[in-house]
Amino acid sequence: MIYTIEKIVHRLRPLQSIVRFDDTIEHILTDSRSLSHTKHTLFFALLGESGDGHLYIEQLYQHGVRNFVIINHIEELAERCPEANFIAVSDTLRALQRLAIEWRANFQIPVVGITGSNGKTVVKEFLYQLLCDSYNIVRSPKSYNSQLGVPLSVLQMSESHTLALFEAGISKPGEMERLFPIIRPTIGIFTNIGSAHQENFNTLAQKIDEKLQLFSECERIIYNMDDSQITDGLRRAGLLGRSRGWSTENKEATLFVKKIETQERFTEITIAPLGKDLVIRIPFVDKASVEDVLLCMVAMMLLKPDFIEQPDLFMRLEPVEMRLEVKKGNNDNIIINDVCSNDINSLAIALDFQQRRAKEMGLQRVVLLSEIQQSGLSARQLYRNVAEIIQPLAIEHLLVVGKEMTRLQDYLPDHKISYFSSTEELLEHGGIEEISHSCILVKGARSFQFERIIERLAHKVHQTTLQVNLEAIVQNLHYYRSLLPKGTQCIGMVKANGYGVGSYEVAQALDEAHIDALAVAVADEGKELRKAGILSPILVMNPEESAFDTLINYTLEPVIFSRSLLEQLCTKISKQGFSRIALHLEVDTGMHRLGFSPEELVELADFFKENHLVYVKSLFTHLAAADDSTEDAFTLRQIEQFSEAATRFAQQVGYQPLRHILNTAGTERFANKALDMVRLGIGLYGISSSGSTQLTPALRLRTTLLQKKNILPGDTIGYARKGLLPEGGIIGVIPIGYADGYDRRFSQGRGWVSLRGKRCPIIGNVCMDTCMIDLTLCPEAQEGDEVVLFGDELTELNALAQAIETIPYELIADLSPRIQRVYYRA
Ligand SMILES: *Cc1c(COP(=O)(O)O)cnc(C)c1O
Repeated sequence: MIYTIEKIVHRLRPLQSIVRFDDTIEHILTDSRSLSHTKHTLFFALLGESGDGHLYIEQLYQHGVRNFVIINHIEELAERCPEANFIAVSDTLRALQRLAIEWRANFQIPVVGITGSNGKTVVKEFLYQLLCDSYNIVRSPKSYNSQLGVPLSVLQMSESHTLALFEAGISKPGEMERLFPIIRPTIGIFTNIGSAHQENFNTLAQKIDEKLQLFSECERIIYNMDDSQITDGLRRAGLLGRSRGWSTENKEATLFVKKIETQERFTEITIAPLGKDLVIRIPFVDKASVEDVLLCMVAMMLLKPDFIEQPDLFMRLEPVEMRLEVKKGNNDNIIINDVCSNDINSLAIALDFQQRRAKEMGLQRVVLLSEIQQSGLSARQLYRNVAEIIQPLAIEHLLVVGKEMTRLQDYLPDHKISYFSSTEELLEHGGIEEISHSCILVKGARSFQFERIIERLAHKVHQTTLQVNLEAIVQNLHYYRSLLPKGTQCIGMVKANGYGVGSYEVAQALDEAHIDALAVAVADEGKELRKAGILSPILVMNPEESAFDTLINYTLEPVIFSRSLLEQLCTKISKQGFSRIALHLEVDTGMHRLGFSPEELVELADFFKENHLVYVKSLFTHLAAADDSTEDAFTLRQIEQFSEAATRFAQQVGYQPLRHILNTAGTERFANKALDMVRLGIGLYGISSSGSTQLTPALRLRTTLLQKKNILPGDTIGYARKGLLPEGGIIGVIPIGYADGYDRRFSQGRGWVSLRGKRCPIIGNVCMDTCMIDLTLCPEAQEGDEVVLFGDELTELNALAQAIETIPYELIADLSPRIQRVYYRA
């Protein structure tokens, strides 16, 4: 949804509103724990069984959320959140629903509304699978079918969608009346009627009538015509004329089903759409799934009538609860794990699933397959069937185990197949460690123990690593160069072990990209770089007298910021018999850290004029608030003072040292004031201090989910019992703590991680080596999953730093050496 605040105020007709700035709303938030975007977000403070949303407003405000729909306390909240917009209404849920009603009215596409006692989600997901190639579909996430879930689903509609699939669930009278105008389906599907929620209704007929309210404007209503109770309901509602259905009894039905025959692994449905028998196979055997698919078939007759020419479409349906397990492997592999069974039908499903996954992810396809046992077919027939399934598929490498598998040879002359007589032989000679960048299907009958193969292939990283993309660092250097006037030189700041990332590797990458100089904090850091073979000029920002020998021996260039330091250095140089050693002078124009004042600098000119032991290679100053536009007047004064002092110094000394002012933020915001050089630090890692979106992220801190647990209401989590889930939930444990440099201030929900694309808050206090995360909203999480602490879209360093009132610099520089740094170029 995209609306301006002004428009929303207009639409909601609030009791009162305080609008301080206009904003465009793109995200709706009703559960503070799901916060993923702070900008352009509108929070609805709901009052519900799960608590009072008003309690989270200030916390969200601190995270950067600026728009709130509330019920109470507008004046008080407006005072405490001085930059936020507030809209006060009498009922926030109703307001959300009203907004969804307005939004729905913008779309003319077919909207399928699905209701009934069971199977709503299954029918929706099956339809999605069957139609996703023909339509751009928006659908309810998971089973969002409640008074809250429905408006949230509908607000996802956008101009690009060509079909909507929404579920509606009710538990008591009066509810459908509110859902109807939000969904306004053009096609209705009534899955079935059962006893669910019957306690709130007098009769089954009453419940049917209530549900049928959803369909009052539908052009078509799809149902099981053999269900006389629903038929009666449609008649009562005057909707029978618009109904369409399947039936095993009525030959006049839209879809007359002649025969349903269940095999061991699939079901054959015989229909006669054009007077001729057509057998459609579906990969399910249970009655509920068969009925759900039949409803989908009737819907397909309206939405994709040519489906009868593609009867095998149905065989590809995946169960909504996926049985296949997908996990990450080594070498950028994805593993599809199906080591418990191997029969011809599940093989077809698994292969199809693999083909799609591999295509989506741009991976090669490798299949590890065992013999099929107890098929009831002759070996000859069986493997001819297997070959028929495999033949049309693109599979780069097929590794097969079992004597009978050699039968495939004759049927698959064009496939690369490696044969092994046993699982041991495959493990020993299969070369499975070499498989890379592939989607690997591992499918074996239980007796072949293919889980041993999985173990070998699966990613074994029970460790926390900082992944550093050196190519991104180089790209960021190029980006800053592109901002600067031609010829401006760049110094790469790799002090403090390259901001904690690793100075050698970063320096090496920058060196290769022809950086003009590097800068470290102390002489020893410079010495390490020289020993590792770095040849660029290296500035030492904070040289100590005790390290002067190191400076001279390793041709490191000291930054000088006091007269006494300068004199000590000259004494050392003359004792050793050197001359014309390069140094850099720091000028303090308002930072008030190190450096000569502009007056002192000019006074120093005479010293350098007469002294030939040293020469001034560059003059520089450091900006105190380059990232803060409210301080621009101060910044410009710093720049001006420095330029003046540098000019006077050059006039007096008789030569022109290089001049530099700008750090990352300065370069992003004042590139035209760069003078001769800039000093780039944080920006090289892809972290912008001025909100630039042109950078390439270079850092990613990741770990693995160690353990997942259920928490009962009333239980507490971690030290001091600070972690609370009043209604219970799911948590996970991850192996990183404050001893790794993971800030303890992230405790109690101030920090978060991302897992399977979801934002999961830290729960309880961060421990020394571990911490706990709230997985209540990510129940699909599995032990071994990758957890990103920072570096993906949901875990931006800037946002995380803000949450604990620090800066991204601290978060990376604090990471302890215990965290393994992994460097790569991509
Ligand atoms: C660290 C440092 C920089 C680099 O600052 P970033 O904000 O990381 O770009 C530049 N100049 C001096 C003097 C520094 O100490």
